[in-house]
Amino acid sequence: MTSSTSQRTRLSTRVQSIQPSGIRRFFDLASKMENIISLGVGEPDFVTPWNVREASISSMERGFTAYSANAGIIELREAISRYLYERFHIGYDPESEILVTVGASEAIDIGMRAIIDEGDEVIVVEPSFVSYAPLVTMAGGVPVPVGTHIDTDFQVTPAQIEAAITPRTKAIILCFPNNPTGSIMGKEELEAVAKVISGNDLIVFSDEIYAELTYDGTHVSLASMDGMRERTVLISGFSKAFAMTGWRLGYVCAPDDILSAMLKIHQYSLMCAPTMAQHGALEALETGMDDVHRMVQSYRQRRNFVVKTFTEIGLTCPMPGGAFYAFPSVKETGLTSEEFAERLLMEEHVAVVPGNVFGEGGEGHIRCSYATSMEHLETALERIGRFVQKCKQ
Ligand code: PMP
Repeated sequence: MTSSTSQRTRLSTRVQSIQPSGIRRFFDLASKMENIISLGVGEPDFVTPWNVREASISSMERGFTAYSANAGIIELREAISRYLYERFHIGYDPESEILVTVGASEAIDIGMRAIIDEGDEVIVVEPSFVSYAPLVTMAGGVPVPVGTHIDTDFQVTPAQIEAAITPRTKAIILCFPNNPTGSIMGKEELEAVAKVISGNDLIVFSDEIYAELTYDGTHVSLASMDGMRERTVLISGFSKAFAMTGWRLGYVCAPDDILSAMLKIHQYSLMCAPTMAQHGALEALETGMDDVHRMVQSYRQRRNFVVKTFTEIGLTCPMPGGAFYAFPSVKETGLTSEEFAERLLMEEHVAVVPGNVFGEGGEGHIRCSYATSMEHLETALERIGRFVQKCKQ
């Protein structure tokens, strides 16, 4: 097939309607340059703790090289159930309400496909992880963005959700601690949001993948609130807390009607998550919490340094309560997010992500991951400081 018309028509209208990730475009640019310090990547700088790696190596040595049960090995589902109960006071049945997925990414994808009919609306609270809206679209739904802003600490209000609801609204996606803002929501604020969700009979996708990475108190899970368990699809995984991004292992907990629909899709499209990775994850849950706390301590120290330095530079930077991102304003420089990020990359060789790629409320900000060494952070912030001075002159 040679003509551009025929090439265009062999792709679905749906896939053509979504754009490649804005983060990718930026990193393709950065990868062609030398001496770049990157605050762009959304993953821990730690290597997975050794005992977790060892458990996975041992799994292979013992010959666990075949498919596992579609929903994941039962020992892991039982460990996830115990962990969620102990940490966040929510009870899920490992037999019928927990599914081990290929990253939280798969959980979001099959969750959307399990509940959306053509034209159903899904409210996406933004700025957000870049996959939500495209995955809603790919499932045949219509993403409805609701933007949060710096003046409300990037928390969503009940009134904002109320205003976005129409007769076609089926679900809402929330993520706290949030990527890219680092914002968290306290129990009271979350309860008010939960009321609107249950009052309007919505399903909620609660992406709690950063639940372990909080700096001011313990995370409160939406699923633990009154009336929420039966309407919550709780998404989490091992990538962030246990520094296991490359393992591709996540999980989802949901009432059994939703979970068995997701399992049906998972069976046909993925079969199961990698077996040796599941053995590693089991070890992580059983013995890895000290390592998690050690990593959180280190992120906290870096967060404090980054926020303090941004403030000294003259950029407004809210204190992130969780995850490992700072989301300072760049409005002070008179540049848009894209202009700031592109010029910073070209002139000072520092890669950050322009806030607009995360949807509504993101324009005027940049996302900086502080999951990188102190040495890199110090140099990067020195360069950002110099760049901001230049912009302000
Ligand atoms: N949700 C959020 C909010 C994320 O930031 C990410 C990764 N950047 C994911 C889900 C995907 O995680 P996983 O590696 O488990 O697919």
